[in-house]
Amino acid sequence: MCQQISEGTRWAKCGHFQRHMVVAILDCNSQRCTKSVYHPSNCRLPTCVNIFNTEIQRDVDRVDEYCFACRAAQARAAGVRLT
Ligand SMILES: [Zn+2]
Ligand SMILES: [Zn+2]
Ligand SMILES: [Zn+2]
Repeated sequence: MCQQISEGTRWAKCGHFQRHMVVAILDCNSQRCTKSVYHPSNCRLPTCVNIFNTEIQRDVDRVDEYCFACRAAQARAAGVRLT
């Protein structure tokens, strides 16, 4: 199974990773993995792997805050308590 290597921001308070871009693919060199360069393009086997393994996250930036999704969730939760 191939792995994507991504660069992004690490939100330190919640630990979430915000991907900016996929910078590289770590090839597993398997002919039975559709993501590999070794996979034959004419292969139609349904048994071949066609998903990526867990991505490798490379922190290029670290912010001592919660991510946008977590802040939105907190705002929603606070709104519910107020009403
Ligand atoms: Zn692979
Ligand atoms: Zn195949
Ligand atoms: Zn978060």
